[in-house]
Formats: sequence, structure tokens, C-alpha cells
Amino acid sequence: MSNLSVLRVKSVQETLNLLAETDVTSKLLSGGVSITLQIRNGNLTCDRLIDISGVEELKSIQPVQINGKTFYQIGAGLSLSHVAKNSELKSKFPGLVSVIKTSSDPARLNAFTLGGLLTVKRNTGNLFPALAVLEAVIQVQNTDGEKLIPIMEWLTQVKKESSGLITAILLPDQSQTGWLVKEVKRRQMPGELIAGVVLCSVKDQNDVQSDLRLASVVDQFGVQRWTAIEEKINQAVAANDSFHSIMNDFDVQLQLRWGDGLDAQYRRQVLTALITRGLQEMIGSGEE
Ligand SMILES: Cc1cc2nc3c(=O)[nH]c(=O)nc-3n(C[C@H](O)[C@H](O)[C@H](O)COP(=O)(O)OP(=O)(O)OC[C@H]3O[C@@H](n4cnc5c(N)ncnc54)[C@H](O)[C@@H]3O)c2cc1C
Repeated sequence: MSNLSVLRVKSVQETLNLLAETDVTSKLLSGGVSITLQIRNGNLTCDRLIDISGVEELKSIQPVQINGKTFYQIGAGLSLSHVAKNSELKSKFPGLVSVIKTSSDPARLNAFTLGGLLTVKRNTGNLFPALAVLEAVIQVQNTDGEKLIPIMEWLTQVKKESSGLITAILLPDQSQTGWLVKEVKRRQMPGELIAGVVLCSVKDQNDVQSDLRLASVVDQFGVQRWTAIEEKINQAVAANDSFHSIMNDFDVQLQLRWGDGLDAQYRRQVLTALITRGLQEMIGSGEE
């Protein structure tokens, strides 16, 4: 560890070139919170750190066109507080900005960068479910080129630190007609949830109808996007039906997934109650 070197880079290309060198092991250093912890605990396993905190390309926020669609590209080198202060994002994605502001204490919001959070995959407040309902895409580069990975695939299938340099989060440009967050917090830790639910309604491309999207985080069960019940709820709303039986089926599905231990039972009850209350507030029906 005493031989650990730190290289400050200025560009994405320089970072990729260094990451491609195979005779030394490297790790990226962005906000530095997790890396500092690893150094302190003596479990940082690499020969050198590549400090990307000065790479301006990783700090821009701009609309971009990809395959004919507009996305807001938010640089992975930005801290949470930078993202939350951006006026364009405040007006385009007010729900996300409010989730970010309440996701942790000011010191952590200043320190954590999007790239660090996405690598560590430690959910902060309701950030990951919020990105899930917005259908965020993670932009990653290595020397072979660029990959675009949908957020749920990123969270559930991509191994930590296996994937090169995260350059940005892409948020599809879409009009959100509703946004609601329900959560049960732990008392002792800022940013720690037992369960959180984000509901978002999004106008379809023809601007005719709003579709509801739903994602949750439950501490040991992780982040989920609930597309199957979204579909049923959207159908129930269109037909002016109650969603009561949908929630009963949902509870049965959760029992099959999570089992019936005491912890799982408690978390099932919390999640089902949060979703039901959220739906009642958002679409105002559901009680028989
Ligand atoms: C309640 C709570 C509990 C937490 N518990 C933990 C915990 O147990 N352990 C922990 O480590 N953190 C924990 N965190 C902190 C947090 O999730 C991360 O440490 C923090 O987000 C790291 O961000 P950073 O910018 O400081 O990243 P850094 O410390 O700079 O980097 C973190 C990791 O991400 C990689 N990385 C950074 N940027 C990029 C990029 N652009 N592309 C690819 N890889 C990149 C680094 O190589 C490193 O491996 C917790 C936070 C909260 C709110």
C-alpha cells in the first residue's frame, strides 16, 4: 500500500488509456468516499489510483440525441449536490431532484459522485428507484467502445467494477405528469431506508394518456421495477376498476419471491402498504 500512486487525469481518453494498461492494477478515484474507506480499512487492492475528479468531460449536463431520441446526459463526475442545483434538471426532472436532495446529509451530497454511487451500488435514499421509473441508461466506456446499459440491468446484472469508466447517466426526455415518493426510514442513519416506493406517471409519445410506473427499494431485497403490476394498474385505471385485487396478487407474488420469514413478512407488509397508499394518492381510487 505504501507504493500506491495517484495519477490525476484530465480527459476521458487519458483515463481509458491508463485503464487499458495490463501490467498494473488501477482503480478510479472520483468523490473518494469509498476509496478513502478502503484505504483506512486496509482493503484497497490496486497499484494505483486514477483520479478522475478533474475531468471536465464528466461534469456536463446537456441534451443529446441517441438513435433519434432525446436524452439528458448527466456527467458521472458530478456530485449529487451539483445535480440537484442544476436549473434545467430542476425544471425537467423535479421529482428526481427532490429525491436527491433528501437522499443524504449535505456532506455526503457534496462528496458522492454519480459514478461512485453507481459503482458501489449502495442505494442512497430513493435514488435508484427514481432512476428506475425514469428509465435511466448508464453510459459506460472502455477501450472497446461505448455501452448503454438500462439502469435495472446495471443494478442487477453488471458486476461491480467490471465495466470500465462510467461517463454519464442518460435520462430520456419525457414529460412526467405525476410523481410521488413513499418511504419508511431507519431512525439512526441518514439516507437509510427500510422501504421506499417511487411512483411516476409519464405521458405517452402521443401525449394522449399518462402511464404509471412503479419502482421500490427494500433494504435487503434491493431495487425492483414492478412492470407487471404497472401494466395491470394502467389497465384498471383505463377501465375505471379497483386495483384492490391487483395488490392482493402482488402480495402473493412477494411471498413467493421473498419467503415467509418474519423479516420478509414485515417488509412485504410495509411495501404493499406504501404502494397501496401511493396509488390511492396518485389515482384516487382502489378501495372497494
Ligand atoms: C447510508 C449509506 C451507507 C453507505 N455505506 C457504504 C459502504 O458500506 N461502503 C462504501 O464504500 N460506501 C458506502 N456508502 C457511500 C456511497 O455509496 C459510496 O461510497 C459513494 O457514493 C462513493 O462515491 P464517490 O464519488 O466518493 O466514489 P469513490 O470513492 O471515488 O469511488 C467509489 C468506487 O467507484 C469507482 N468509480 C468512481 N467513479 C467511477 C466512474 N465514473 N466510473 C467507474 N467507476 C467509478 C471507484 O473506482 C471506486 O471503486 C454509503 C452511503 C450511505 C448514504
